[in-house]
Amino acid sequence: MKEELRRVPFECRSCWHVWEEDYLVRQADARDGGEVWLRGGVPVTPPSVTEMCPRCGCRQAARFPEGYLARHPELTRPAGRAASDPTPLVSPVPKRRRWIEG
Ligand SMILES: [Zn+2]
Repeated sequence: MKEELRRVPFECRSCWHVWEEDYLVRQADARDGGEVWLRGGVPVTPPSVTEMCPRCGCRQAARFPEGYLARHPELTRPAGRAASDPTPLVSPVPKRRRWIEG
């Protein structure tokens, strides 16, 4: 039996929020084609389009292929607001003044 961590990206079809869910996938007997999906150690249904949007709560999500967001980082950027953007907007200017003034 093998376990694999999978990060599945979703996009809400209602508010276009993009988020990821971490799952642990336990491969059961190959003859069953069985996969057991766990989230937080609890068996859950495999990710599907009924996944609930954490922002608006609707259940109309699109599932992206794994790793999709790594290739499209622009999707996770908040549209119009920088609330969750960890990059500081303040530029490191102060130390340069001495250099400019000589
Ligand atoms: Zn939504």
